Amino acid sequence: MQFSEVSKKFMEMETTTKRLELTSILGSLLDGAGDDLKELVYLIQGKLAPDYEGIEFGISGKLIVKSLANASGQTEEEVNKLFSKNGDLGTTAAELRENIRQAPLVSEDLTLHYVYTKLLDLANSSGPGSVKGKMDIYSDLFMNSKPDDIKYITRIIMGKLRLGVADSTILDSLVSAFSEKKYAEIIDTAYNFHPDIGLIATLLEKRDIKTIENIGPEPLVPFKVMLAERLKSIDDIREKMNHMVAYEYKYDGLRTELHKKGDKIKIFSRGLEETTDNFPDIVSNFKKNYNFDSIIIDGESVPYNPETGELFPFQMVSKRRGRKYGLDEKSLEIPLVMFIFDILELNGKSLVNTPYQERRKILEENFKDNEYFRLATRLVSDDSEEINKFFEKSIEDGCEGVVAKNTSSESVYRAGARGWLWIKFKRDYQKELADSMDLVVIGAFNGHGRRAGAYGALLMASYNEETQEYESFTKLGTGFSDEVLFSLPKMFSELKEDHKPAMVNSKMIPDVWFYPQIVMEIQGAEITVSPIHTCAYSKIEKDSGLALRFPRLVKIRDDKKAEDATTTNEIIELYKMQKKTK
Ligand code: AMP
Repeated sequence: MQFSEVSKKFMEMETTTKRLELTSILGSLLDGAGDDLKELVYLIQGKLAPDYEGIEFGISGKLIVKSLANASGQTEEEVNKLFSKNGDLGTTAAELRENIRQAPLVSEDLTLHYVYTKLLDLANSSGPGSVKGKMDIYSDLFMNSKPDDIKYITRIIMGKLRLGVADSTILDSLVSAFSEKKYAEIIDTAYNFHPDIGLIATLLEKRDIKTIENIGPEPLVPFKVMLAERLKSIDDIREKMNHMVAYEYKYDGLRTELHKKGDKIKIFSRGLEETTDNFPDIVSNFKKNYNFDSIIIDGESVPYNPETGELFPFQMVSKRRGRKYGLDEKSLEIPLVMFIFDILELNGKSLVNTPYQERRKILEENFKDNEYFRLATRLVSDDSEEINKFFEKSIEDGCEGVVAKNTSSESVYRAGARGWLWIKFKRDYQKELADSMDLVVIGAFNGHGRRAGAYGALLMASYNEETQEYESFTKLGTGFSDEVLFSLPKMFSELKEDHKPAMVNSKMIPDVWFYPQIVMEIQGAEITVSPIHTCAYSKIEKDSGLALRFPRLVKIRDDKKAEDATTTNEIIELYKMQKKTK
């Protein structure tokens, strides 16, 4: 496949404001890929491999400017001037390429495979002399490219290719192109256990549904964690789960996947990011105490006070997270304990289809509580009084409440899914509006008066998993400290879009649109029916959506991606819970 075909489609994807058009362009691009499909799907995501493989380009904007200056015969100052005017290095590179008007050094067009290989070389070049090596590769690409090609190549390198297609959108398109709807669930499950879009694409292109069906948890490959629904009361949970239920403490820490294979141990976050280096104590203790050939466990890491054993709030973990230096000394100060609540694989055998009760038994047989690893405290019961006491005790012990787990033989481990096999219950749920929400910023309204030069309000959206669209839900203008408020224009400067992005569904038109990327935790007073917002449009009431009244910023969630935001379905559930309380 020629790279110019890719650039052409990227340009079309970038300019459309209609989601259907976006997916149809994507479909035609995938259709024409042939043997290049795997490389193409990574490039559509602006990557060379799944994130967890940790491949990074390792070249700064400054060095790109320098390379551009060298290659185009301009001064760095001139290139920087152009960059300031465009606000985007990709467009800058394209303009410079246009202006030198020199025919590409090679006469044939660039192929996709050539570009992919060169980008991989660029990322892999390391050690002494690698800066020059990287700059040389980029300059070669610049000289060999047409203006539109170098625009997208540059954006990929800078991590700024924003085409608005999530992995789930690509998966859907792959299913339409190479498979049948009846396999969609199998394909989705495979992806959730092995979130490598390139791998799934290759298998689908070969029509190898058998291999896809056999994909399960794989030690050292992060999986998408299972999530819980919410209910308003213990009685609702008992009813929903047919009474005999296991209640586990709901720990307030960091979701932690621990994988071991041979002598390798890796830890991943809920966002599939490898965080092994942040847990040296947990890793060395696991190595010392447990001798499995391979294992995958799921749990929550919580900081605690080593003197009293009392659990600390979650914020203490974030202090430790990302502290690359002096972590050992800090980790002694704030030790962590991993509360294990699930197991997905043991010594080569997948346990995801083994019912929850048996998985728990396997955990109990293999883990004795120690300083670093404990099993989640739990109660299996159908006695209201006993359960309520257990719930109260969970709060007393520093937890947020309980997660109820279905004890039937159907209670499998569902990667990446929020379902009724796990249901969370927190004290807050007894209040009118149960929970805070994690919403995505899709636009902003200019500020006036004291807020001149900043934003007066942000337009916030929920994520509709079914349509893969962001749906407007509220206008957020309070809860910001001045410091945060005045830092917003800079935070969003690179996310500005000159038209409504195709995956945004909003009737309200802000002064400026943003590419949906930044997630904020919001607390509100009430969810109401509103004709202005598109969240759950016509789902509750015809020609109306849902809106959040009196929203207030709790915090910016830089640990969450836009697709991890509160879903429209969750908002519908919260709305129903709120009505019930009234
Ligand atoms: P929330 O973040 O409010 O959606 O609640 C779900 C989260 O609770 C999960 O993603 C886990 O990180 C956390 N959690 C704490 N304890 C448990 C438990 N025993 N079982 C499942 N999840 C738990």
